[in-house]
Amino acid sequence: MDRGPAPVPAPPGEPDGRRRIPRTDALLADPRLAEAAARLGRGVVKAAVVAAQRRARAGEIPVGSVADTAAEALPGTAAGLRPVLNATGVLLHTNLGRAPLSDAAREAMLVASGATDVELDLATGARARRGRSALAALLDAVPAAEAAHAVNNGAAALVLAATALAGGGREIVISRGEMVEIGDGFRIPELLAATGARLREVGTTNRTSPDDYAAAVGPDTGFILKVHPSNFRVTGFTRAAGVAELAGLGVPVVADIGSGLLGPEPLLPDEPDAATWLKAGADLVTASGDKLLGGPQCGLVLGKEEYVRRLSRHPLARALRVDKLTLAALEATVRGPRTPTDEALHADVEVLRERARRLARRLHEAGVDAAAVDSEAAVGGGGAPGVVLPSAAVSLPEPYAARLRQGAPAVMGRVEDGRCLLDLRAVPPGADDAVAAAVAAATEGR
Ligand SMILES: *Cc1c(COP(=O)(O)O)cnc(C)c1O
Repeated sequence: MDRGPAPVPAPPGEPDGRRRIPRTDALLADPRLAEAAARLGRGVVKAAVVAAQRRARAGEIPVGSVADTAAEALPGTAAGLRPVLNATGVLLHTNLGRAPLSDAAREAMLVASGATDVELDLATGARARRGRSALAALLDAVPAAEAAHAVNNGAAALVLAATALAGGGREIVISRGEMVEIGDGFRIPELLAATGARLREVGTTNRTSPDDYAAAVGPDTGFILKVHPSNFRVTGFTRAAGVAELAGLGVPVVADIGSGLLGPEPLLPDEPDAATWLKAGADLVTASGDKLLGGPQCGLVLGKEEYVRRLSRHPLARALRVDKLTLAALEATVRGPRTPTDEALHADVEVLRERARRLARRLHEAGVDAAAVDSEAAVGGGGAPGVVLPSAAVSLPEPYAARLRQGAPAVMGRVEDGRCLLDLRAVPPGADDAVAAAVAAATEGR
């Protein structure tokens, strides 16, 4: 095996420990590192080299293995983001980037990443509407929508609706029970107020009736906003007005469903979907692309042509427009095979248990204190609160949690009752070998 460049003699007077550490330029001439520099950029490789030299200087690695250590530490890509296997049991983990994309979406993004006909009709050579085929895919999937528009995320969809339909100080009528904070300090009422629209709050925390809305609607009303309280539940003495009850009040109804379900999902009966709320009379539905739809981060706007057009033609739309990669991934998500999110949601618990047993047995035979246990998974991403998805996990000693996080690929489990649980519901079935290898590497303390 290539052991890297021979040590360069240190200049006279340098302390002994450092003497034989290869110099940076000599290391960068190592064929593996030179190839990596061409692929990843010289700065990325140099950082790995400098880190390895530092470890050799500190006596952590032999002086002769600096090049090997640097080569092993090279990242897979020139970007800092590292792949993570999501063994948290939270399907849409916000800190892990919410929905993982399907292979179909990844391939579509790769093709679109070069020069592509995102805004060109190749048949005529004339300019064409940006994103037309992704939007057509959405309309095929939701026939109840007359038109569709895509922006950067669900929040952007709300900003655009508020600005285009209630700008200039007009009112958005909203229930006090739907003044929601989504997470990380993102509060829908503050977002709406930031557009210059005025909020007209109606009802109470637990009860708002259609009459409350009717009494508030007037000449200043831009629209009624119905927000799905996606991340909490109010139980007991409650009342909320449905979309159908708001549709007859003579002003547009915008409904924020949050999750991005295009049609009903039998496993999540309390999650609203675009088709159902449009049929119930919503003029516009807004949603996220990277929650239960299982696609890229984006915001969807579906509904009546008149209102979609007012949004898509508003000057602000240009500042919120999605890039070609998002459009490609969105279309492939909507038209393509089942998404990883959908597969994880529908995974059969008996299959998960069998995978956990097999993994635990394999690890146990390798001397790891591993056991298959039942687990409880959740949808996450601020969706389907209170829904418990029965799942299965491999239970390991707690110190594995930190070690697995720092592996390659990183494996993110969850710590429960002093054990590290690797919940398999959001781990793709084909990744069990990678999980086993990661645990083996963490066992060796590498
Ligand atoms: C998640 C969510 C949003 C925000 O969507 P982002 O895509 O995160 O910007 C808005 N409204 C509801 C009801 C949500 O659940």
